[in-house]
Amino acid sequence: MKTVLLRSGYAMPMIGFGTWTLRGEACAEAVKTALLTGYRLIDTAQMYRNEDAVGEGIRRAGIPREELFLTTKVCAPADSYEGTKEQISRSLALLGTDYIDLFLIHEPYRAAPAMWRAMTEARAEGKLRALGVSNFSARELAAFIKETGEVPAVDQAESHVFCTRFSLRDTCAAEGAVMQAWSPFAEGKSHIFTDPVLLSVAGKHGKTAAQTALRYLLQLGIPAVPKSARPERMKENLAVFDFSLDAEDMAAIKKLDTGRSLFGWYD
Ligand code: NAP
Repeated sequence: MKTVLLRSGYAMPMIGFGTWTLRGEACAEAVKTALLTGYRLIDTAQMYRNEDAVGEGIRRAGIPREELFLTTKVCAPADSYEGTKEQISRSLALLGTDYIDLFLIHEPYRAAPAMWRAMTEARAEGKLRALGVSNFSARELAAFIKETGEVPAVDQAESHVFCTRFSLRDTCAAEGAVMQAWSPFAEGKSHIFTDPVLLSVAGKHGKTAAQTALRYLLQLGIPAVPKSARPERMKENLAVFDFSLDAEDMAAIKKLDTGRSLFGWYD
């Protein structure tokens, strides 16, 4: 698995497993299957109400903890210093782990700097490794860095072929942060899996539209956390490191970018 080195000094897998909408037994089994398929990064959030099931899936897979990279996120109503402190303990307990590899502030809350203070304290105690944010625009990221004096390791943001966020990626890189893509398949919107441009490029390489969409992000230096509940698709979405898109492919796919969010997030 290819990785990207975060400013925290830890390496993050370029492809992770998203768990939004997975719950309970189905989530535990999906996480177990994903880990046994080869995923090493699991992306969850307090908002998803599945951290316990993610923890169960991890136990079932039996992969050594040090080989895993766990991401979770803190959200409202825990958007305060105290709330974040409590949520960190809660996430650790639900996930059944001593530390979280990447802990994100889920959205640009007003209290983000106070939440960050709680996160840095937990980091000093060894409970969190890398700290980051999610859904911060370039402007929000700059204001946050100015206020806290720290650069988040990651800004997890909407990014896919229809709205790739080149400018946010570049701002992150200039600051020493990594933009990571959520919904790299746009949740299946805009007929991404049957898009004629993606299908045509995919055909050239004997790959699927999904693999081509992920490969595009990877070649732009954007790590991603695709979700699938189906074992065959989990495997498909990991098989993206054995081919390369050429300049013509990249240029054709770039034309799909409308610059408009499909989920209401704007720069
Ligand atoms: P996504 O990964 O863009 O797309 C998931 C959809 O694509 C599902 O319907 C899945 O169906 C389908 N799919 C997956 N692989 C496929 C393939 N190879 N061929 C055809 N269909 C395929 O959507 P997402 O779950 O919204 O985003 C991914 C992850 O990002 C989330 O799970 C979550 O961890 C994270 N996220 C974070 C935020 C944030 O605010 N930070 C927001 C949204 C998402 P099946 O499951 O039936 O295969």
